[in-house]
Amino acid sequence: MTRITTGIDQAPALETSLEMPYTLTTGKAVSVFIEQLGHGVIVGSHCDNCDRTVVPAQDYCARCGGDQGATVAVEPTGVVTAITRTADGAVGLIRLDGVDADLLHVIDESAGEVAVGDRVEATFAPEPVGTILTLAGFAPSTSAVSTTAPKEIDEVADEDLAKQIIYSLSLPYRHAYGPNYGRLFDELGSRGGILGSRCPHCQNVLVPPRAYCEICYVKTEQFVEVKDTGRLQAFSVIHMEFIGQTRKPPYVYAEIVLDGASTRLIHNVAGIDMARATEVLDIGTPVRAVWKAESERNGTLDDIDYFEPIPE
Ligand SMILES: [Zn+2]
Ligand SMILES: [Zn+2]
Repeated sequence: MTRITTGIDQAPALETSLEMPYTLTTGKAVSVFIEQLGHGVIVGSHCDNCDRTVVPAQDYCARCGGDQGATVAVEPTGVVTAITRTADGAVGLIRLDGVDADLLHVIDESAGEVAVGDRVEATFAPEPVGTILTLAGFAPSTSAVSTTAPKEIDEVADEDLAKQIIYSLSLPYRHAYGPNYGRLFDELGSRGGILGSRCPHCQNVLVPPRAYCEICYVKTEQFVEVKDTGRLQAFSVIHMEFIGQTRKPPYVYAEIVLDGASTRLIHNVAGIDMARATEVLDIGTPVRAVWKAESERNGTLDDIDYFEPIPE
């Protein structure tokens, strides 16, 4: 996580990324499709009811919902029916010869631009990669339209099929802080001050500060500094582990109303015997911020390491 202060508008922004690792259960038809790509064969499926062939092979017909019939090998040649260019290259819809639906895939334009209506032919990765990308893409081709009917393939041994594909989806993004969060983080970073904004109508102090009061729909006009002490409004003891967690369970996740604030701040409570958390803590328990060492602060709410109960 990096804070940066340059960009199109020079606005302070958070540059970070959402990471979503997951496994995809392929199902029978797609696992056969991926396995056969390793042999340079593109596999589709044929619905006898609709008399249509689609690629990649599917377990059920998307049109009639019935079981797909034969798993068939189709021709590696076809025609481009649509194309989109991105900074990372071109993708397009390809209607393979003898197939009744388009396949979305990479269009290889390294040898020149490809247009809608052009003939293309499959290119394969040097080694199978275990996903549809074993089929590297489609490059321009001088092939004639094939009239060979898709032919049924032999049953693939179950042990040759990959049942799952490991994926990781990464979504990098920039989140502009805007004037309210920008000021909050500046004050936190420079002197450990916690700011809210006051609604001129209901007089509530909103922490973190926001541009509009969500109760009155009135623009807030004034920054107000609140204390780093407050009271618990609600809390949960977290025992479950999950991806992306920044603390090791058990820990206490709490809603805290800081002194001088009208809204709840989400933070952690620590400095207690976690096994006795529900005895030690209660709604209304007074707490205070425990700040990280100055050298570890970077101007975010994480500069507060946690809140601890104030002995009464
Ligand atoms: Zn069908
Ligand atoms: Zn208000």
